Amino acid sequence: MFAIVGGGLAGGRAVERLRELGFDGRLLLFTDEPRLPHERPPLSKQYLRGRLAESRLLLRPAAFYAENAVEVRTSTRVVGLSPGDRALTLADGERLRYDRLLLALGSEPIRPAIPGADLPGVETLRTVEDADRIRQRLRPGAAVLVLGAGFLGSEVAATAREVGCRVHLVEAGQAPLVAFGPEVAEWAANQHRERGVELRTGATVTRFEGTGEVEAAVLADGATIRCQLVVLAVGARPRVQLAQGAGLRVSDGVLVDGACRTSVAEILAAGDIARFPSPGGTTRSEHWDNAQLQGRHAAESMVGPVGDFSTLPYVWTELYGSTLQQLGTWAPARPSLMRGDPASGRFTALQLYGGHLRACVAVNQYPAIKWARRVMESATVLDPDSLDKDGPRVWSEQAPGPLTLRLD
Ligand SMILES: Cc1cc2nc3c(=O)[nH]c(=O)nc-3n(C[C@H](O)[C@H](O)[C@H](O)COP(=O)(O)OP(=O)(O)OC[C@H]3O[C@@H](n4cnc5c(N)ncnc54)[C@H](O)[C@@H]3O)c2cc1C
Repeated sequence: MFAIVGGGLAGGRAVERLRELGFDGRLLLFTDEPRLPHERPPLSKQYLRGRLAESRLLLRPAAFYAENAVEVRTSTRVVGLSPGDRALTLADGERLRYDRLLLALGSEPIRPAIPGADLPGVETLRTVEDADRIRQRLRPGAAVLVLGAGFLGSEVAATAREVGCRVHLVEAGQAPLVAFGPEVAEWAANQHRERGVELRTGATVTRFEGTGEVEAAVLADGATIRCQLVVLAVGARPRVQLAQGAGLRVSDGVLVDGACRTSVAEILAAGDIARFPSPGGTTRSEHWDNAQLQGRHAAESMVGPVGDFSTLPYVWTELYGSTLQQLGTWAPARPSLMRGDPASGRFTALQLYGGHLRACVAVNQYPAIKWARRVMESATVLDPDSLDKDGPRVWSEQAPGPLTLRLD
């Protein structure tokens, strides 16, 4: 029996891949959520705006699991793991033996130790239930404070503004979306401010106040912000407790090799929970693209030998109708090359190391990411001067060839 623990993207993609590969043994997926494997990105976007039905979040309809003999046990928490006798224990005490096990438990939001952070109306966002609670308070005119202006916080602030809330976005750093580099960060800050979000950078909350439920946040500079809803978006941590309890090697994530195997070979891990080898060390990703690719890779590894998992880091986010994409990893202290004008809402920033493209961030520029993937995968050496001077030329399916970046 193959067991998958976790009904998110990595777990969902793993069961699909196992059946695609012809694995015809017993296959069980356990999830402590009350629904089938589903997507999370819409929870801060279309679903939070009320523009997407819950059923549209599912990776696959119920019929898929029935037709493929995948036993999905929803609302079922795995509470124990005994690698010695290859058994897992469910919350109701049931014990099951597995031949291979995939841990795809994802990550959970960090709730900072700020006094009052446990008041009703102070929320984190990971699940459909979280999104439903937040949505109930997102009423036109409602005062909302979002703490943290990374991907999630920026998206929630934008969504709240779009539904007509009064929004304060409080960020300890100097700008929103800093992981996308300074150009995008500045552009994003302008977007928030132009849409009427009160963006406070270099600011921290010292306590939340309220009788019964949250009514205000007090900042370190003494300012008090009235609010009826707080969304904490200050990061997440991998759900490693189960692995830790079983004695698996854990260090900010469950440590795996290139084949997604943990320190116990028949137990694998994938998605947000997994820390895997990468050039120069190990890394962990909390992004959609990684979770789905790694879930599939782990499935392949469960049925036979595989090469090392490797992927170009890719993440996207949305802000007020714009799509921001990043391929590669942005190095904060390095200079970048800009193509296009941020004021136009369509631009690209690139980072090169010794002529190799290492990061590409594109705002509303889909061809640029496609171009960047091609450049990175072929390890093409670029001449930065030519990139600076080049006029707009497009690389497209119709005219493959010159690796010249065109933005329009
Ligand atoms: C609101 C939101 C918006 C996002 N937007 C984007 C985006 O725009 N772009 C992007 O690249 N990424 C985005 N992400 C990140 C992306 O969704 C995650 O990287 C991805 O969901 C990770 O998949 P996963 O399968 O590893 O974990 P998860 O999706 O978290 O799934 C883990 C599953 O395991 C279950 N579980 C945990 N413990 C147990 C247990 N003991 N027993 C049984 N089940 C258990 C959990 O309940 C859950 O169902 C977003 C995330 C969130 C929360």
